[in-house]
Amino acid sequence: MELDAAWADRWMHDSARVIAENRQRLTTLDREIGDADHGENMERGFSAIVEKLDTDGTPDTPGAVFKTAAMTLMSKVGGAAGPLYGTAFLRAATAAGDSGALGPAELVAVLTAARDGIVARGKAEVGDKTMIDAWTPAVDAAATAQAADSTPAGILIAAANAAEAGLAGTEPLVARKGRASYLGERSAGHLDPGAASTALILQSAVRAAEA
Ligand code: ADP
Ligand code: MG
Ligand code: MG
Repeated sequence: MELDAAWADRWMHDSARVIAENRQRLTTLDREIGDADHGENMERGFSAIVEKLDTDGTPDTPGAVFKTAAMTLMSKVGGAAGPLYGTAFLRAATAAGDSGALGPAELVAVLTAARDGIVARGKAEVGDKTMIDAWTPAVDAAATAQAADSTPAGILIAAANAAEAGLAGTEPLVARKGRASYLGERSAGHLDPGAASTALILQSAVRAAEA
């Protein structure tokens, strides 16, 4: 299975579907330690992405799909997550360049660039109880899988599994970035909503590669 524009298009469609299915769950997580809008924010953004892709037709490259996703998220989603995911997809688009299909090294570069964009924008470190606690283990696992000569699909599976483990690891943490940090110690004992949406999105990338 090639990680071409059709894969990137399936990735965005699968993300939109699972985010819509998990809207309540994401919003409930955000009600515990935030302002109860993460599900709504993410559903609005990803439904706008697929609307744009369906109206304009699938772009020619994965990078162009990511660029569409970035522009849409930045214009349609307020709050923290819109600019953070928007920056992630914009950096991913730049890393993907004009490539028609991402090879293993390009895939790792794309995931790394996405994570680095979120860090550049939000300044969160691992352990701050944010989506970075899903992204950074995912990027590290992707790099390890690539070094072991995994296929692109294998790299994505490693990344998605690590993101899921990273999500679970956010539960005991005290938030140091974003709205949840206002709660101080009371933020402990809850999963981070943005780490949950990151795990869902990376699982969608796997399904898109297996389809
Ligand atoms: P808002 O908090 O503005 O309502 P959302 O609810 O859509 O935005 O998104 C909240 C999520 O954004 C958090 O769960 C966290 O994962 C992520 N987040 C917030 N601030 C940062 C940051 N500085 N760096 C990385 N991620 C962050
Ligand atoms: Mg919120
Ligand atoms: Mg909000």
